Amino acid sequence: MIDACYPFTNPLPSTNMPDAVQLAELSRLAEAAAHRAYAPYSHFYVGAAVLLESGEIVTGCNVENASFRLTTCAEQTAIASAVAQFGPGIRIQAIVVANLNNTACQPCGACRQTIAEFAPSTATITFPGPNAQPTTTTTLADLLPGAFALATSQQPATRD
Ligand SMILES: [Zn+2]
Repeated sequence: MIDACYPFTNPLPSTNMPDAVQLAELSRLAEAAAHRAYAPYSHFYVGAAVLLESGEIVTGCNVENASFRLTTCAEQTAIASAVAQFGPGIRIQAIVVANLNNTACQPCGACRQTIAEFAPSTATITFPGPNAQPTTTTTLADLLPGAFALATSQQPATRD
C-alpha cells in the first residue's frame, strides 16, 4: 500500500525548501515537462523540475523504450540535462515531480540514488500524493536513508 510510505518523519530544513512562489513555478514546469513525455507503452506521463543551488531550473520527462528496461525516468533525464547544461559540479536544492495521471508518484529507487549523486541529504523532493491528495514534500534523507556512496582518498581525475 502506498499509504504505508506516509507520513515522512524528518522535519524539512527551511534552507532547502523552495518558497511558495518557487514551488508553484517548479510544479508548473514539471507538469509542462510531463506533457512532453514519451510514454507510448505505459501512458504514464511524468515530468520533473530540478532546482539547482545556483538557482537554475532544469526539467525532464520520462522516455520509454520498447525494451522497457531502457526506459529513463523524468528525474534522471532532468539531472542528465542539468549536467549537460551546467557541468559536473551541479548541486540540487529541490526537485518537484508531477504526472498527468492523477496518481501518487514517488521517485523510484534508481532515481533516488541518482538524486543522491548530486544533492545533499537535506534536498527537498515534492511529488503527488495518493488519490489526488495534496503533494508531499520530504527530504532525500527520508527517501533514501543509507544511500550508496563510494569513499575514495584519491582526487577525481582532472579535466582539460
Ligand atoms: Zn525513477
